[in-house]
Amino acid sequence: MILVTGGAGFIGANFVINWLAQSDEPVVNLDKLTYAGNLETLSSLRHDARHIFVQGDIGDQELVFSLLTKYQPRAIVNCAAESHVDRSIHSPEDFIQTNVVGTYRLLEAARAYWAQLEEAAKLAFRFLHVSTDEVYGSLSTVAPAFSENHRYEPSSPYSASKAASDHLVRAYHHTYGLPVLIINCSNNYGPYQFPEKFIPLMIVNALAGKSLPVYGDGRQVRDWLYVNDHCSAICCVLKAGRSGEVYNVGGRSEKLNIETAYIVCAVLDELRPRADGKSYKEQIALVKDRPGHDRRYAIDARKIERELGWKPVETFESGIQKTIQWYLSNPEWVSRVQSGVYREWGGTSFTAISQ
Ligand code: NAD
Repeated sequence: MILVTGGAGFIGANFVINWLAQSDEPVVNLDKLTYAGNLETLSSLRHDARHIFVQGDIGDQELVFSLLTKYQPRAIVNCAAESHVDRSIHSPEDFIQTNVVGTYRLLEAARAYWAQLEEAAKLAFRFLHVSTDEVYGSLSTVAPAFSENHRYEPSSPYSASKAASDHLVRAYHHTYGLPVLIINCSNNYGPYQFPEKFIPLMIVNALAGKSLPVYGDGRQVRDWLYVNDHCSAICCVLKAGRSGEVYNVGGRSEKLNIETAYIVCAVLDELRPRADGKSYKEQIALVKDRPGHDRRYAIDARKIERELGWKPVETFESGIQKTIQWYLSNPEWVSRVQSGVYREWGGTSFTAISQ
């Protein structure tokens, strides 16, 4: 049994779905169901007894401890977070509460549970914290990619709150010996991503005939990774990562934002041409830049490749085709997210415990 937090969000849900497709080891999925949590994403697991969904907050230490003692998981995979930079700029409070205080309380519950395990279970236990490359700040165009030793220089309330959570996780290893693992990953894309994020926003707006907003001059660089490749990295680190270590994960797919917008448009032109025969590129609009916008992120993933033999399966070209195909095939998922109906989804048929 493993405990996944934030498993109704983009990465967490993809992770849970992939995990249960590859293994019969059950998952307890603890998610608060904020606006970013969507039970509909997990609908294929509705009648699957290997998936136990619990609506609750990682900051509820008593609840987390009770789940740990009840289900006795051998690992926690922490995907729960507030994750959208723009929201953190407008309203940082939730980011501090979940990413900092919530991670702290989750660590406290994990520490109390771990301390009472028998020696073998104690040795085998892992607390895997899913984090971001944004904690390292911004790179110049010529600087080498972020290694695990790059100094922390977060520049948004989101990345600062994730940096704080990484420090806490590391401190729990050094101070209490809790067996932790940290993954710092680059930008993910793929199925089930909330359409406030860059790539799904481009796809959804293009299809709706709306403008495709690209911040500033569009020359910010992001290093894209298909979500299933991130999920396989999490599995790899959980299985073979050394306790206390950090692993950077990325797709070696650096792209200018404007380039990414062009690629999305080109794939859509091919798969779902506009009725007027023009390119979706015509809908791209440069808009006022985000305050403090980091210029470039790039990940040096050699450590996980060398030590654990992990490699991404998808190139950006294959991953973006799959992603766009998925959004084209799942317009109901998108429209229910946009209308807000997804928040009413769930129902009694889910293996769910509502706290
Ligand atoms: P998301 O916003 O799609 O999902 C977050 C999930 O956490 C949601 O289901 C939400 O309901 C849940 N949640 C929020 N607060 C909670 C709380 N207090 N208790 C329990 N559940 C709570 O985010 P995501 O894109 O899936 O990101 C997951 C993790 O991966 C985050 O830590 C993020 O920093 C990290 N990450 C994301 C990316 C990316 O490109 N999306 C890249 C690198 C790292």
